[in-house]
Amino acid sequence: MGKVGREIIKMDVGKLIEMLNTALSDEWLAYYQYWVGAKVVRGPMREAVAAELMEHAADEIKHANMLAERILQLGGRPILEPKDWYKFGKCGYDSPIDSFVTAILKQNVDGEECAITYYKDLYDKVEKADPVTAHLIREILEDEVEHEDDLETMLEDIKMVKKL
Ligand code: FE
Ligand code: FE
Ligand code: MG
Repeated sequence: MGKVGREIIKMDVGKLIEMLNTALSDEWLAYYQYWVGAKVVRGPMREAVAAELMEHAADEIKHANMLAERILQLGGRPILEPKDWYKFGKCGYDSPIDSFVTAILKQNVDGEECAITYYKDLYDKVEKADPVTAHLIREILEDEVEHEDDLETMLEDIKMVKKL
């Protein structure tokens, strides 16, 4: 990357690239979890839930793109092997083996809680040291907070069906 663009980063760039690759791994796993969840989901409000899951899948891919662009700008290399997503990711992957709406929504809430925790921690680490990465992480964090809220709202709505 540009000389001064690099000079203003007041932290170990190699370590920063590693942390961004962890996030990149989790974004791809989250993308697939949402995408396949939208395909297999069954139960009340199935279509509305599937549509929401697909929207979130699209956001996770957008996040993966933002992270990969920053990794490249920093002179790093985005993870090349999908099997390494498991190794480097911190939030992992929950297979939607139980395809009932509430089970899938709960799994994805857990994923978002993990993502929010990871990004908040990363934000705190880069806030002063690298404002450019901090801005990007904050944008992603805002989306994850919205995702968690959307899923929890849907879960509450579905639970209300029992009260009919
Ligand atoms: Fe994401
Ligand atoms: Fe998300
Ligand atoms: Mg949403």
